[in-house]
Amino acid sequence: RQIYLNGSYVPEAQALLPIFDRGFLFADGIYEVCAVIDRRLVDVDLHMKRLVRSVGEIGIALPVASAEVVEIMKELVRRNRLVEGVVYMQVTRGSAERDFHYADDLKPNFVAFTQDRKIVTPKLSTGISVDLQPDIRWQRRDIKSVMLLAQVLAKHEAGKKGFNDVWMVEDGFITEGASSSAFIVTKDGRIVSRANSQAILPGCTRLAVLRLAEETGLLLDERPFTVEQAQDASEAFLTSASSTVTPVVRIGECVIGDGKPGPLTRRLQAIYLDQAMKGEPL
Ligand code: PLP
Repeated sequence: RQIYLNGSYVPEAQALLPIFDRGFLFADGIYEVCAVIDRRLVDVDLHMKRLVRSVGEIGIALPVASAEVVEIMKELVRRNRLVEGVVYMQVTRGSAERDFHYADDLKPNFVAFTQDRKIVTPKLSTGISVDLQPDIRWQRRDIKSVMLLAQVLAKHEAGKKGFNDVWMVEDGFITEGASSSAFIVTKDGRIVSRANSQAILPGCTRLAVLRLAEETGLLLDERPFTVEQAQDASEAFLTSASSTVTPVVRIGECVIGDGKPGPLTRRLQAIYLDQAMKGEPL
């Protein structure tokens, strides 16, 4: 596999960064993940926009222009002959002697790689279970920072308990999934998703799905929802680049609806996947 590292494409064994990289020492960096389905980059403009916003929020200058980042992603997909999977990108503040303070002229480290994995999985038809866990993250969750320890621990714990994933809870409300945006469908057919704020990551797939839902004339409410409302919902699902629209059929100990993916979820999933397959393959 070829990796993009600070201007060159190199075999992964040669893709090395100094241990003084601030991403490694302080989680002082940003990442972004874009799905590839059938050799097409999915929602690439939304992911680019969020990458630019995230680095801006923590004062890192993107070392390459946005248009060039997209070219790097495409080049990696071609070089690694990726048909389905993800492109992962990470920008850190750079390498320097370990010190909380940083100089403003550090040279950011920019790496990107592909992962060959299934995006359209059987889980899209069966649905998944989510464990409920307290949201112990920091208060700028709108920034896609590489500081993911809370989610690493939460997902590991959920796995040990036999759950597929995690939805996080703060003050009785669901914030979002550990690596996804959370949605419910109420008994009167309204799709509910928490509005963007510093409490959650603005999901690119969430935005794409909301736009498609709106175009389709479905009823949307952008508002927070409680654990009880989620467990009482007629459908639930989560969205992320790497899981598209995944039905959630159990929340904690509570089975949602009849335990099978609901009709609105399946419809949105179909519309989303259909849209993702538009455009020219690489
Ligand atoms: N929320 C969190 C905390 C995430 O980590 C992710 C993706 O990794 C998402 C939401 C979904 O975002 P996207 O749809 O852009 O992948």
